[in-house]
Amino acid sequence: MTDFKIPYGRQNIDESDIKGVVDTLQSDFLTQGPKAKEFEDDFAQYVGAKYAVAVANATCGLHLAALALGVQKGDRVITTPITFAASANCVKYCGGEVWFVDIDSETYLLDPDSVIELIESKPKGFFKGIIAVDFAGLPIDSEKFKSIADEHDLWLIEDACHAPGSAFTDSKGDSIKTGSSIYSDISIFSFHPVKHIACGEGGMVTTNSEAIFKKLSLLRTHGITKENMSENHGGWFYEMQELGFNYRLTDFQASLGVTQLKKNDWSVSRRNEIAQTYQSAFEGKIKFQYNPEGFLNAYHLFVIQVENRLELYNHLREQGIFAQIHYIPVHKLPYYQQISKDYGNLENAENYYDSCISLPMFPTLTDEEVNYVIDCVLNFEKA
Ligand SMILES: *Cc1c(COP(=O)(O)O)cnc(C)c1O
Repeated sequence: MTDFKIPYGRQNIDESDIKGVVDTLQSDFLTQGPKAKEFEDDFAQYVGAKYAVAVANATCGLHLAALALGVQKGDRVITTPITFAASANCVKYCGGEVWFVDIDSETYLLDPDSVIELIESKPKGFFKGIIAVDFAGLPIDSEKFKSIADEHDLWLIEDACHAPGSAFTDSKGDSIKTGSSIYSDISIFSFHPVKHIACGEGGMVTTNSEAIFKKLSLLRTHGITKENMSENHGGWFYEMQELGFNYRLTDFQASLGVTQLKKNDWSVSRRNEIAQTYQSAFEGKIKFQYNPEGFLNAYHLFVIQVENRLELYNHLREQGIFAQIHYIPVHKLPYYQQISKDYGNLENAENYYDSCISLPMFPTLTDEEVNYVIDCVLNFEKA
């Protein structure tokens, strides 16, 4: 056992982040003040969306997104099994049914052709929506998913928790930033410390629809509002027009968001440098996530596939490298097994899970550390 540790991900908090939080703590507002609004405005501008709603975490954001799109009891929604459980759970919170569709074995993303096949095997109106995930930081082809959604009268949520700062080139040659919600109805980001932007806990929901924006804002604060009231007893008066939640982000967390967001472009470009170093070393020797041309991956994770995954995982730990597995397929989790045994053919997802391992990937990882990881992996795989 070595005495140092290289984790698979690590937050990067500097003096500007600390100063921002201290300033906010000394201001008049710890929550519902100007910082959350500033973070929302900065974030909307960064991703190129009209509206951004800050929330307590991305799980709340997914829940609000599902509610804003009207998910209710019995509604059937398609998602990928290779994601964090929250992508699917938001449908269950609303009483809906989750249908898992297989991934593409090269990109590890929800496979659009398999989605079409499932939809077309069922009567019209059988499904209500699709939740696709920008897995590991590689954005989905939202133009393609949007055309599938439009053709079958579905909505499209993009779980972009892994992918702030990513983009792809659409068929018109335009660069589509993840979260711009040009093709997706709603996009969701997470600010858990292991993600790109660390607020401790936090999330952001982006959309271009004013109606969805209003619904998200109302449900974030208990369903309570002073707008469009049916009566008014005076300045104190408000109405609770719907059953909402307290899903707000505090101002000191939002302050971290403001300063962390400023470093995201640097973070994404450093992550791409690290990915290139891994790719050149593994090319022809070890399989890694395929990155289609025209897609800028934000590299939340760098995933490789090996046959002796358990042995490699244990070996790396002995060398001080704490790799991780992303993810145990959601349909294999006991809760999802209890509610259904029949999730169809998810062979690519299951084969992927048997061999995947996420190597260290964070912007402050040094070249020396990257090369150490590469040496450990290659020497073990050779042996
Ligand atoms: C992290 C993550 C979430 C949940 O984010 P929280 O902010 O922790 O609630 C949802 N979806 C994906 C794909 C994630 O990686």
